[in-house]
Amino acid sequence: MHYQPQRDLLNDRIILVTGASDGIGKEAALTYARYGASVILLGRNEEKLRQVAQTIREQEGQHAQWFTLDMATCTPHTCQQLAEAIAAYAPRLDGVLHNAGVLGDVVPMSEQVPAVWDEVMQVNVNATFYLTQALLPLLLRSESGSLVFTSSSVGRQGRANWGAYAVSKFATEGMMQVLAEEYQNRLRVNCINPGGTRTSMRASAFPTEDPQKLKTPADIMPLYLWLMGDDSRRKTGMSFDAQPGRKPGISQ
Ligand code: NDP
Repeated sequence: MHYQPQRDLLNDRIILVTGASDGIGKEAALTYARYGASVILLGRNEEKLRQVAQTIREQEGQHAQWFTLDMATCTPHTCQQLAEAIAAYAPRLDGVLHNAGVLGDVVPMSEQVPAVWDEVMQVNVNATFYLTQALLPLLLRSESGSLVFTSSSVGRQGRANWGAYAVSKFATEGMMQVLAEEYQNRLRVNCINPGGTRTSMRASAFPTEDPQKLKTPADIMPLYLWLMGDDSRRKTGMSFDAQPGRKPGISQ
């Protein structure tokens, strides 16, 4: 995507990123801060979040608040408690990037281990829903709220061996569409499909692939910025590719 955002694109915006401790989420948090946003980091690993917050302080001179939440074990109640803690810190949320996710096992359906299936659904779908429900009141306080989910090409077209992960991403696309209709004119709700990106999740899905041939998280940030800023204000209920035209599952 060729998009050249204004340097102050996200000034005065408060944006929460899940899975902000690593990979694409970490890069998104750093990028949003660079474009002026006040960033709230969510993750399960306190030390990694602390380091991301420190990098934001060093590079952007901004304070980033972080909160821990293990999405594999969280409940609607713990997500509500977290939302209350966030509300005590932030008057509203202008953006939420649901980025945290797990891959599960890349094996045929007949070999999908039910406990792993459950974990993938819990993190990628259930916890994402609990968090969305808990954070909606804060998002609706924004004049130009943007709720962004993270999908995948296997969330639009099923593919052998992608099991729980693919099914969870279909669910993510569905959740986005339902919410987009429910909150028309009040909140933008969209999906990003990052496309193959150089992260540890990608390396575990494609262990023989040369990571140097993949786009980095930084390369795909234009779409992440565009969807959080006012340039995408009229867009809702859509699923965008961060790497349009890229063939799924094949490194280029
Ligand atoms: P990474 O594995 O690099 O990062 C995943 C993030 O999610 C980490 O911050 C991780 O935390 C967090 N996370 C995982 N489990 C939990 C949990 N139980 N509770 C809280 N946080 C958790 O993945 P990517 O950056 O590659 O992926 C980001 C998103 O993009 C995912 O939704 C993925 O499905 C999607 N995607 C990625 C593609 C790619 O090629 N990379 C392609 C298509 C979609 P921790 O640091 O503690 O592990």
